[in-house]
Amino acid sequence: MSSSVLAPPRRPEIKTELPGPKGKKIVEADAQFVNPAYPRPSFKLVAERASGVWVEDVDGNIFLDCNAGVAVCSTGHCHPDVVKAIKDQAEQLIHMCGTDYYYRHMPQLAEKLDAIVPVPSPTRTHFANSGTEAVETALKLAMHATGREKFIAFFNSFHGRTLGSLSLTSSKAAQRKGFKRQALDVVHVPYPNEFRNPFNAADCGDGGASQGALNWIEERLFLTTTPPEEVAAIIVEAVQGEGGYVPAPKGFLKGLRRICDQHGILLIVDEVQSGMGRTGKMFACEHYDVQPDIICIAKGIGSGLPIGACVSRADLMNWKPGAHASTFGGNPVCIAAALKTIELLEGSLVQNSAEVGAYLKAGLEKLMQKYDCIGDVRGMGMMLGVEFVEDKKSNKPAPDLRDRIEVACFDRGLIILGCGNNSIRWSPPLILTKENVDVALEIFDEAIAASV
Ligand code: PLP
Repeated sequence: MSSSVLAPPRRPEIKTELPGPKGKKIVEADAQFVNPAYPRPSFKLVAERASGVWVEDVDGNIFLDCNAGVAVCSTGHCHPDVVKAIKDQAEQLIHMCGTDYYYRHMPQLAEKLDAIVPVPSPTRTHFANSGTEAVETALKLAMHATGREKFIAFFNSFHGRTLGSLSLTSSKAAQRKGFKRQALDVVHVPYPNEFRNPFNAADCGDGGASQGALNWIEERLFLTTTPPEEVAAIIVEAVQGEGGYVPAPKGFLKGLRRICDQHGILLIVDEVQSGMGRTGKMFACEHYDVQPDIICIAKGIGSGLPIGACVSRADLMNWKPGAHASTFGGNPVCIAAALKTIELLEGSLVQNSAEVGAYLKAGLEKLMQKYDCIGDVRGMGMMLGVEFVEDKKSNKPAPDLRDRIEVACFDRGLIILGCGNNSIRWSPPLILTKENVDVALEIFDEAIAASV
């Protein structure tokens, strides 16, 4: 008898070609009616239902999910406690519009965030519906609080696709093409990627890529195009997500903090992808012992319900009624899901992310020894990147090989997703077990062997 995600299998089960006959019809309808700009990968997953780490497609194929709907389903798919919290709340109050009326959920979650974010308390929270809206809020707030309008961001960053956040985003030309000049005055600095250090030895001194980036800001930008007293904020991902799962090097965020303090610039850390336990701590900033002025959160906070948050030092968020608001932001159902998600994360999942993530990383490092095409394995917790190269000697990026491996994994029932030019991201639900990891690594190994 075939199993289903409702009775969890131990291994993926692929019974049809992919996508199967029902899946094909949906893909065709999608091609006709849905926005073609969605950046879908080469494989086509047509999901029907999911539970924990398992996803079943419309044709009854079962996949092991190591992407979690792009780092969103932090507590696993349809965690029973989260589902119950959503159902209970939906029966009580679905919407009231917190920008005009009050309900207990908003201050409840804002108080909880005040306790867990690395921003110095007291904080205030604006509730949004997505990552990009959390970032838009941060940008508006930084301009409002400082009276300045320039921003410093980093190449290969991803902060969203609305016009303000798009001015920061720089991980792919396709995200920018056709949209003319940047809406905001943003200057980009190379991100201190330690595997591909973009700075020369003179830039770095003896401080490596991190020093290179800091010197670039202080000794080039501030002395030429970007006077520091005109800069509202520096915005940075503690671990670059879409840009390739590249963690900031040690000392870099602290260096940014020092520069910001010296010049009255705000430090905004975008933890939309790296936050909520993904890196084995509640926020990636905590690995670097840095306190931003403003933090952006979304993805993993709602276990799949759309909610974002911009949490700021309270003294900065002193704007007047009407300056910023959102009809749906922080609706009671999403907040109920977020409160339950945080409870589960604090209960055991952040720790599981650290422990099982370390186990997964050790397995990936073994594969790096086995295969000349794996140039780098990096990251913390369950935010791990694997970079594919032509060979270790040249370290030349191998984007086509990466794409083939992604598809080969899918064909074998493992969902993983590319990021950056030539990397694969591992961003599984934080409930992943060591047993799941063994299965995932076996498939990944097979997929690489079949693709090189
Ligand atoms: N910021 C980061 C770091 C992200 O990874 C993303 C999405 O991938 C965003 C912002 C935008 O989030 P959303 O797609 O919810 O607007």
